[in-house]
Amino acid sequence: MAASPAPPAIPSFEDARHIVEAQAAGLLEPAIERVELLRAAGRVLAEPVLADRDIPPFPRSTRDGYAVRAADLAKLPATLEIIGEIRAGEKPEEIPASVERGQAVSIMTGAPVPPGADAVVMVEYTSRQGGQVEIAKGVGSGENVVARGAEARQGSLLLDKGVLLNEATIALAASVGKLRLEVYKRPRVAVITTGDEIVDLETVPGPTQIRNSNSYSLAAQIRNAGGDPVLLPIAPDERQRLREVIEEGLKSDLLLLTGGVSMGRYDLVEEVLTEMRAEFFFTGAKIQPGRPVVFGRVPHEHKYFFGLPGNPVSTMVTFELFARPMLEALAGMSPRKLMFVHARLKSEIRIKTGLKRFLPAVLSGEFENSEVELVAWQGSGDIAAVARANCYAVIQPDRDRIAAGEWVAVMMR
Ligand code: AMP
Ligand code: MG
Repeated sequence: MAASPAPPAIPSFEDARHIVEAQAAGLLEPAIERVELLRAAGRVLAEPVLADRDIPPFPRSTRDGYAVRAADLAKLPATLEIIGEIRAGEKPEEIPASVERGQAVSIMTGAPVPPGADAVVMVEYTSRQGGQVEIAKGVGSGENVVARGAEARQGSLLLDKGVLLNEATIALAASVGKLRLEVYKRPRVAVITTGDEIVDLETVPGPTQIRNSNSYSLAAQIRNAGGDPVLLPIAPDERQRLREVIEEGLKSDLLLLTGGVSMGRYDLVEEVLTEMRAEFFFTGAKIQPGRPVVFGRVPHEHKYFFGLPGNPVSTMVTFELFARPMLEALAGMSPRKLMFVHARLKSEIRIKTGLKRFLPAVLSGEFENSEVELVAWQGSGDIAAVARANCYAVIQPDRDRIAAGEWVAVMMR
């Protein structure tokens, strides 16, 4: 009898993540649609946005005060002649043509600094007597002035394709008059939940049945990552029906399955996908929760899928760790690395080595004094525990004890 090939080694978390990122990097550009700027938050930009003029378009005063020639303030106090006033939005013909030696112009925040002047003295350091102003404090050349074009030159690239539209990038688009923007269409993400014990929310569960919560948590995460969830019927642990639902799911841009990827006799997801000639990039990763996570592609459909473990916390965590970067790429977003914040551990952790852990935790404290503490839980099926958490504490696979007060990595939710 021929020896069966050794099962592929289970990758570390980092290796598994890089496998997903490498596949995501090879995707084609998604389709494009136009949206109103007011509806663009959370969408991904699909066109470059250029500066339509210099920003700022004139040397802008950042203070209320007096526009002066800095060299006139070499000796203090200095008395200068006031030759005019410039308000924000002042008509160009009202702006003095030049500020000469010994002269000053009263100026407001956001107003153009007139030719000749090279700095603005804050009004707090001045006192006005009729047509003259006495100045008590010197300024360097350029102080309290943003030079024309210092923020961006006309025609330069402000925002590139792939940028996530948030309040800052929307403000920048607004500042160059983009009332509408081209954005990528949201990818459709099919969700299949598997398991003979799982019932939908309209059904009163029998004594051994479990309500489907994973489709709902995934729908929330998919929307949050820029996709449109497509919830398919619950698939029983039965090959033929499972295959039919998977075929339906492959019509979407990405397929997420939950449950049926562990070692149990009725965990059929991998078997059915193998029958469908799927290729697997990994089947399992050295993490907890979520060790049985599966990532692959059905080549003839050119569709990627993730088999997420059915335990509800595992489903949530593996979506964030692996499905999210693929979904963001399908949504047209430029790749971003997974980064963690750090906080001090509130109470000691003792744990087995070997797996990278993402444990439901509470980040608390105020201002700079954040602390993180694990929530008590009954394992990766404990939805009530994860609902009490606001983050995951990330524990390295080689640590079996982490003392209170140590810095630990935190993945925010
Ligand atoms: P499995 O990954 O299929 O072995 O399932 C692991 C555990 O997760 C079992 O206790 C399942 O009952 C539970 N589970 C699977 N799918 C869901 C779901 N959609 N909603 C809630 N719990 C689930
Ligand atoms: Mg199952």
